[in-house]
Amino acid sequence: MPHRVTLIPGDGIGPELSEATRRVLEATGVAFDWDVREAGADVMAKHGGNPLPDSVIESIAHTGVAIKGPITTPIGTGFRSVNVALRKALDLFAQVRPCKSYTGVRSRYSDVDLVIVRENTEDLYAGIEFEEGTENCAVLRDTIQKLSGAQIREDAGISIKPISIEGTRRVVKFALDYARAEGRRKVTVVHKANIMKHTDGLWLRVAREVAEDYPDIEFEDRIVDNMCMQLVQKPELYDVLVLPNLYGDIVSDLGAGLVGGLGVAPGANFGTAAAVFEPTHGSAPRYKGQNKVNPIAMMLSGVLMLRHLEERAAADALEGAIAAVIAEGRSVTYDMKPTRDDPGAVGTSQVADAIIEQMGVRA
Ligand code: NAD
Repeated sequence: MPHRVTLIPGDGIGPELSEATRRVLEATGVAFDWDVREAGADVMAKHGGNPLPDSVIESIAHTGVAIKGPITTPIGTGFRSVNVALRKALDLFAQVRPCKSYTGVRSRYSDVDLVIVRENTEDLYAGIEFEEGTENCAVLRDTIQKLSGAQIREDAGISIKPISIEGTRRVVKFALDYARAEGRRKVTVVHKANIMKHTDGLWLRVAREVAEDYPDIEFEDRIVDNMCMQLVQKPELYDVLVLPNLYGDIVSDLGAGLVGGLGVAPGANFGTAAAVFEPTHGSAPRYKGQNKVNPIAMMLSGVLMLRHLEERAAADALEGAIAAVIAEGRSVTYDMKPTRDDPGAVGTSQVADAIIEQMGVRA
């Protein structure tokens, strides 16, 4: 039976990356039945100004698995971000960002193999904000003073940081299950519980409780500032990290920096009923349609998807072929060459050709 998967080409450079990724996924021999769905700036006029048509969400809710190219967030549509809206609609509560060194990618480090799991729905990114100078903000300030005695300056804006037992439990459990399924040895929970006792403190306490059910996985905690220093000094000591939303956002870009940047940084967002795989980078609109940009982050997102679909042999074959093409350094895009104007750089579709050829060689 072919895997039914929603394919969202996205906009900007999304369609060309999606085409290259679809080709390498099919070349693994795994059968797919793609449900191609348009979203983003280029199609919003067709959908009453909506860059995220309901049919896209309905398709993913039905197939349970999607792979998507980046989508531009159109300015002035009322959409803070199409990607955030998608994560909210499908309650994709866990974002997974593997950060792995590949030989041939220019980076200061050579031995990094981390998986960063970020809580995706709570924390300071829950979107609960009160604008400075508004009546609601003044009411909230007065209430806070009555309840806690704390004085907030009159000219302050306020953002709220909710972290719940349920929200913590499900993402920490996800990280531990992921570690177990992927044969990882350790999960590190990251926090600032020494300062924020009722949010990060709760996060740490619940995480420890959840970890008691996983005696086979080593479990430890780190304070977020120390974590950043340690990741820069000795990233090889860490394996799977699980973080609340804000720290997760920052530390996952730190992790991408450790392994050579966004061109090789895949991602996935998991909910209870659906998983969406996508590269970490955006839609780079100025390169649209030029067959120029690097498809590897989206292809590595495809590798994650193959693992999720339990097509492990195909995932290993595709990842091995990608790694071999990077290591050889010939059929790679301009951003992976020693200089950006290297005349030997190839285009997006030629990277796909080289990876497909490599898989044939390996087979
Ligand atoms: P961007 O990632 O599109 O671009 C940042 C830089 O990286 C640019 O110089 C770009 O040319 C380069 N770059 C990005 N992807 C590349 C690739 N595959 N190969 C080579 N170079 C690459 O970030 P941005 O400019 O801040 O955002 C552009 C749009 O993308 C915005 O509308 C933003 O909202 C959206 N965005 C979408 C997603 C997503 O769909 N998940 C994620 C981030 C940003």
